Amino acid sequence: MLATAALAMSLFSPAVHPQTKAAATIIEHVRVIDGTGKPPLEDATVVIAGGKIISVDRQKAASAPKHVQVIDATGKTLIPGIINAHGHLALIEGAKNSATAYTEENVLAELRVYESYGVTTMLSLGVNRDLIYPIRAKQQAGELDGATVFVADRGIGVANGAPPLPAATDQIYRPATADEARQDVDAAASRQTNYIKIWVDPLGGTKPKMQPAIYEVVIDEAHRHHIPVAAHVYALTDAKALVNAGVDVLAHSVRDTTVDQQLIDAMKQHGTFYLPTFTVDESFFVFADHPDFATNPFLDHAANPAIQAMLGSDEYRKSVEENPSTAQHRKDFANDQANLKLLHDADVKIGFGTDSGAMPTRIPGYAEHRELQLMVAAGLTPVEAIHSATQVNAQLLHIADKTGTIESGKQADLVLISGNPAANIEDTRKIARIWHNGRSVKPAVPAK
Ligand SMILES: [Zn+2]
Repeated sequence: MLATAALAMSLFSPAVHPQTKAAATIIEHVRVIDGTGKPPLEDATVVIAGGKIISVDRQKAASAPKHVQVIDATGKTLIPGIINAHGHLALIEGAKNSATAYTEENVLAELRVYESYGVTTMLSLGVNRDLIYPIRAKQQAGELDGATVFVADRGIGVANGAPPLPAATDQIYRPATADEARQDVDAAASRQTNYIKIWVDPLGGTKPKMQPAIYEVVIDEAHRHHIPVAAHVYALTDAKALVNAGVDVLAHSVRDTTVDQQLIDAMKQHGTFYLPTFTVDESFFVFADHPDFATNPFLDHAANPAIQAMLGSDEYRKSVEENPSTAQHRKDFANDQANLKLLHDADVKIGFGTDSGAMPTRIPGYAEHRELQLMVAAGLTPVEAIHSATQVNAQLLHIADKTGTIESGKQADLVLISGNPAANIEDTRKIARIWHNGRSVKPAVPAK
């Protein structure tokens, strides 16, 4: 016990950074993609001070008082800090999943990686240990840096089924009965979890699937506590049943087939959010298809050396080519793309998530920028993809009154891009500056 407390102190203490802020920062001549889905505002002036956005307008700011930092952002674009609504923390050690990886040290390191890639908020969607709660509390008190973390507690899976991850005994629930499931939700609620996560997927028919009697009780009990529920899902029939049972978020694409009008109608009736998580399916083969991706400098600070070495190796490429599941992953990915376009065109609420951190090839920080590109490849405009990753996700997390858009009064959660992502979504990788709650954060791979 003592050793744990001492470790916590030693980890927390150096992390407390003084909030070194100029009295105000004025960003001039900047293109603003404000997160609402509106077209970009050209040649704007954005003023931030005291951790907040003070103003956004077309005029030059009135004469700058002392202690004001003025940034000439000609040719640059300001977007809201990215919000990832489906990530995981500290599940990887080296290039493998590990049941012992979930430590304070690893959680903090990954939150800092996210932040340094412009992901200023993330929802750790299950497989968390209780040590996440003091970290969340210290962040709320302004005593810790890193991406602002929201949590879905341990999550509720299936005995001998999903999720097929190595985990510590205090990291996931696998209830045998509806009563047990209700108790698990109550325990998570007592820790003030932000979300409840469930896994409804027979993993290709190889494993038992969570029964409706369990997930219906979980959803009802969570809602009794006013806690929303997100579901890992694969098949259209399960997606429909979950939406009709009141689930708040489908946390992956429907991948087995094309979505239909019944699902669309149910999602619109219930206001259900949909997270495509293209990165999940693409990550099974993309680094084998594009070996150059493994040597891209943008990956360097996100992937650890063991993962980089694995992705760059011939053995890895061969193992992907020879894996009988790879063809299925490619099919799933094609379904993901077609389904996003159909749901988006039907005005279903499209959020943004990556499942980064769940497996070694889903790389926090890197994956979020790739996901934006893949949403655009599937048929969204860049401004729409950014809207999903900012304002829509702020709504999903019930923080849209505080962040997710570039509007006066909102938190200064901002990413300054060297380029124009409205014209070329890949430009989001060219990160010149990051502010999180007004605090300046060094980009992992700074652009000029
Ligand atoms: Zn996940």
